[in-house]
Amino acid sequence: MIRIVGAGPTGALLAILLAKRGQPVEVYETRPDPRRVPADSGRSINLALADRGIHALKAAGVFEALGSSLLPMRGRMIHYENGDTAFQPYGQRPNEVIFSVSRHRLNQALIEVAAGRPGVKMHFQHRLEGTDFAARTAQIRDLVSDRILAVPMEPLLATDGAGSAMRREMAARQLIQGREIDLEHGYKELAIPAGPQGAFRMANDALHIWPRGNFMLIALPNDDGSFTATLFLPKFGAVSFASLGDDTAVEEFLAASFPDARELMPHALAEFSAHPVGFLGTVSAHPWHVQGQASLVGDAAHAMVPFHGQGMNCCFEDCIEFDACAARHSSWEAVFAEFGAQRKPNTDAIAAMALENYMEMRESVAIPKFQLQQTLSLELERRFPRRFIPRYSMVMFHHEVPYLTAQQRGATQSEILSELTHGAVSMLSEVDFERAEREILSRLPPLPEPL
Ligand SMILES: Cc1cc2nc3c(=O)[nH]c(=O)nc-3n(C[C@H](O)[C@H](O)[C@H](O)COP(=O)(O)OP(=O)(O)OC[C@H]3O[C@@H](n4cnc5c(N)ncnc54)[C@H](O)[C@@H]3O)c2cc1C
Repeated sequence: MIRIVGAGPTGALLAILLAKRGQPVEVYETRPDPRRVPADSGRSINLALADRGIHALKAAGVFEALGSSLLPMRGRMIHYENGDTAFQPYGQRPNEVIFSVSRHRLNQALIEVAAGRPGVKMHFQHRLEGTDFAARTAQIRDLVSDRILAVPMEPLLATDGAGSAMRREMAARQLIQGREIDLEHGYKELAIPAGPQGAFRMANDALHIWPRGNFMLIALPNDDGSFTATLFLPKFGAVSFASLGDDTAVEEFLAASFPDARELMPHALAEFSAHPVGFLGTVSAHPWHVQGQASLVGDAAHAMVPFHGQGMNCCFEDCIEFDACAARHSSWEAVFAEFGAQRKPNTDAIAAMALENYMEMRESVAIPKFQLQQTLSLELERRFPRRFIPRYSMVMFHHEVPYLTAQQRGATQSEILSELTHGAVSMLSEVDFERAEREILSRLPPLPEPL
């Protein structure tokens, strides 16, 4: 019997994949069954789903169930301070889009498929509260009866998220090293309601960004015609959540920084005071497992900042890799060891790229040199499709390219782009394409064909 603690995206998908291979699975989740309760407020309401996540959801038979809840976003819509907007496509092929999806709807779909699989038993309102590695059991409280159950581990898969109780237990007992690195910025969600008859009030096929240097606002569409906007801002300092102490300060800040968005957010002041400032950070742990007893998977092992829209996509890729490791080995210790050894270099790479992307979103997207390099990247991809794929595209649209490869090739590509655009201002005609060909052929070996 495999025990999974946490029925978020990772735990639910793992349960489906492992049960599919005939393994009996029990899942313990603190919260009530998401199919019976309305969406939680406070967590990000919608998420960007990309190729890695889609690939995993297809393998589990969940993708198709999402149907019209998936809203394609073809690129970024940049909102400048003077009110101008500019659309920057994410990719150049029709399938190179990412999807906005409701977190609650996705959780419901995953739980529905997991609970429907023979061999899967779901225990909602059950919370992991402690572990006894000597006795090889975990203490799980049934929150309805208030009884503590001693649940055998070996294996227990801890998919209990960024604040993982299991990771903190393992680290407190010095069985692993765990680090939680807090970002100096936090976030707050605000709503852009639908217009008359559920009409979208901005382009619904884009991820909207208001880049403002040290802070930014973004908005993703929902299938009811609304958008969920997220304000990312330093927690402390001159312009920060701490400095916006009352309605007047908030109003002045929103009206001055995002005048067009402010007009679309009639309840912004009430929401600003009601919603908590969300935590953002990076979790790093090593190793991810204790013998063959328990392993961390998903955010519990490697939560990252959300600026590449890859946290959950990466967790879904974890599930595919974990399942493949489970198929290769007969001992759980060997499964855990191989999973951690293969996966960590890749999760470290995407965590680093996610941090870098914050700078790109809040600042670089508005700079002409960056835009020239973006356009040039797409042109080089057209000319050398298996050699030069923009780093963003490798991460978002090419699950066959490991994150670490995307990071390493991305660094080389970035050098090539800087060299080619040195002295150029904004025109592709200023670029020496013969030199581009020489650099690319000598420095970037061909990538494997897509799977
Ligand atoms: C603002 C924001 C925006 C984001 N946007 C994106 C995006 O656009 N695209 C993307 O790919 N990712 C995004 N992410 C990341 C994504 O939310 C996470 O990577 C993903 O939710 C991780 O899934 P998980 O199942 O590992 O953890 P979680 O989603 O945290 O789920 C953990 C589950 O475990 C349960 N649990 C916790 N403790 C216990 C316990 N002690 N006992 C039993 N159960 C427990 C919880 O109730 C929860 O159901 C975003 C994150 C944030 C904060």
